[in-house]
Amino acid sequence: MDIIVCIKQVPDTNDVRIDEKKGTLIREGVPSIINPDDKHAIEEALRIREKEGGKITILTMGPPQADDALRESLAMGADEAILLSDRAFAGSDTWATAYSIARAVNAIGKFDLIICGRQAIDGDTAQVGPQLAESLELPQVTYARKVEISGDKAVIERALEDGHETLETSLPAVITVIGDLNEPRYPTIKGIVTAYRDKEVGKMTAADLNADEAKIGLKGSPTQVKKTFVMVPKREGELIEGTAKEAAGTLIERLQDKNVLR
Ligand SMILES: Cc1cc2nc3c(=O)[nH]c(=O)nc-3n(C[C@H](O)[C@H](O)[C@H](O)COP(=O)(O)OP(=O)(O)OC[C@H]3O[C@@H](n4cnc5c(N)ncnc54)[C@H](O)[C@@H]3O)c2cc1C
Repeated sequence: MDIIVCIKQVPDTNDVRIDEKKGTLIREGVPSIINPDDKHAIEEALRIREKEGGKITILTMGPPQADDALRESLAMGADEAILLSDRAFAGSDTWATAYSIARAVNAIGKFDLIICGRQAIDGDTAQVGPQLAESLELPQVTYARKVEISGDKAVIERALEDGHETLETSLPAVITVIGDLNEPRYPTIKGIVTAYRDKEVGKMTAADLNADEAKIGLKGSPTQVKKTFVMVPKREGELIEGTAKEAAGTLIERLQDKNVLR
C-alpha cells in the first residue's frame, strides 16, 4: 500500500497578527509546526503501513523552510519526503495549490491512497483535500475518524455534526482526517538522527510538474482577497460565578428569562 500524505507547515500560534497594509499574515518570530490535522494523517499512514506494508511519501508545497516539517515527518517514520517549492507558486490560492499538488502526485506516479488533514489552522478553508481529489478525478471521503483498509477498498467512518456515517470507497482515493482518528506518535531518537543525518528530502520545482503555467501561482488563482482583518468580539462575554451547580442554575434562569428555555 503506497500512501502519499500531504502536509502543510503552519505558524504555531492562535495569536494571528496581520500586516494591515499588505493584508498578509505576519510570520516573523512565530515558530512553525506541522499542521495538527496533518500529524494525524501521518500517524494513520504509519498504522496502515504497519498492517499492509508499502511506502509512505510526505508531500508539501511551501517555502524552503518547510524542509523542517518534512524532516519531522521522516523522524516519525515516513519513508520519503518531497518539497514542492518554486517562486512560480507564490500567491497560490487553494485552487492553484491543489492543482500544483495534483501535478506533483502525478509526477510521483504510483500510489494507492492520499491522506490530507481536514483543515489547516492558518488558511482554515478545508478546501485543498477535496480540490485535490477533484483535480485527480479520485473519490474522496472527508472528516475521517476511523479508517480500515480491506483489499483494494477502504471502509471509513466519517464524522457528522450529530453522529457518523460509514462509507466504503475503492482505492486509490483521497481522504481528509480529523483529530479523533488517532494519537500521533512522537519521533524516536533514532528516527530523528536518521531523518536529519541520513535521509534526503526530494525537491520538485514548477519545471518538474509539466504544469499549465496559467494554472499555478497568482495567475492560476481565481480568489481575490478584498480585505483582511482580525476579528474583534462585538460583545463582552459574562462569567457566571459560583459552584458548577449554582452557575448552571443561574444560566438556566437567564435562558428562561430570554425564553430560550421553558
Ligand atoms: C489570493 C490568495 C493568495 C495567496 N498567496 C499565498 C502565498 O503567496 N503564499 C502562501 O504561503 N499562501 C498563500 N495563500 C494561502 C494559500 O492559498 C493556502 O495556504 C493554501 O492554499 C492552503 O489552504 P488552507 O490553508 O486553507 O488549507 P486547507 O484547505 O484548510 O488544508 C487542508 C489540508 O490540505 C493539505 N494542504 C494544504 N496546504 C498544503 C500545502 N501547501 N502542501 C501540502 N498539503 C497541503 C493538508 O493536508 C491540510 O491539512 C494565498 C491565498 C489566497 C486566497
